[in-house]
Amino acid sequence: MKHAVIAIGLCLMPLPSSAELRVFACEPEWAALADEIGDEYVDTFSATTALQDPHYIQARPSLIAKVRRADLVICSGAHLEIGWLPALLQKANNRNVLPGNNGYMEASNFVLRLNASTNVDRAQGDIHPQGNPHIQTDPHNIAAVARALGERLSLLDPANSKSYATQLDRFLERWQEAIVRWEKSAEPLNGKRAITHHRSWVYLERWLGIEEVANLEAIPGLPPTATHLSKLTSRFSEGGADFIIRSPYQDDRPSEWLAERTGITAIMLPLTVGGTEQATDLFSLFDDIVGRLLKASGDE
Ligand SMILES: [Zn+2]
Repeated sequence: MKHAVIAIGLCLMPLPSSAELRVFACEPEWAALADEIGDEYVDTFSATTALQDPHYIQARPSLIAKVRRADLVICSGAHLEIGWLPALLQKANNRNVLPGNNGYMEASNFVLRLNASTNVDRAQGDIHPQGNPHIQTDPHNIAAVARALGERLSLLDPANSKSYATQLDRFLERWQEAIVRWEKSAEPLNGKRAITHHRSWVYLERWLGIEEVANLEAIPGLPPTATHLSKLTSRFSEGGADFIIRSPYQDDRPSEWLAERTGITAIMLPLTVGGTEQATDLFSLFDDIVGRLLKASGDE
């Protein structure tokens, strides 16, 4: 009898995944994008969550095992993962996903990177000399990466290339409609001034016409210091900014401290999918970012 129950239970279980490609994404936004385009033909995994700082994670054995079995590794690139991805790739011993091969792609190679610098000095903290890698905060960048990812999935799995092309088209159609909607509702944000914790929002700012007037980090990538915060307090005591933005993984104390002393609203924005309860996929991510900015500026 017990065996019969188990047998029935097994029959009711979903069939094993028929996924063709194993996609290892460094950040949740690229896993979400691969899900949009690859649908049932891909099995995606993200190395980091929205509550982790993608600059600094441990190259854990479980991640090495995932890279070893991956068909495609997709990361933001531009040195964002320089502290951990090279170790993962080296230890995983999977030639297919090494840089230069079809199984490896850096999303930031497909967009125009902002803030590229010729002045490379690691002592200045995590200045991203290859340009700012936090490209996912502009939906036009997501569209550019979507096209490149669609091509790459087809290249790696030609048998399903028609499906990837169809799904890419469907995604881009919905995405363009959403961009029009976001741009319309975000009009009141044009000209607003932001203080940000780290330079994670430069693409969003360029997209919506927000001016970045200061950062909480005196040296990019290092925690805000008391000296720098008190300088910002005097600089913004008479106003001069509309909001102070931090990401979910960043310490909330510096922005709340400055907000208390200047009266400028401090807000947390999801930097990627999963950063807030509302940001469950790429569409709701931007719904939530725009909604939170409008609410903070009183233009909701
Ligand atoms: Zn950064």
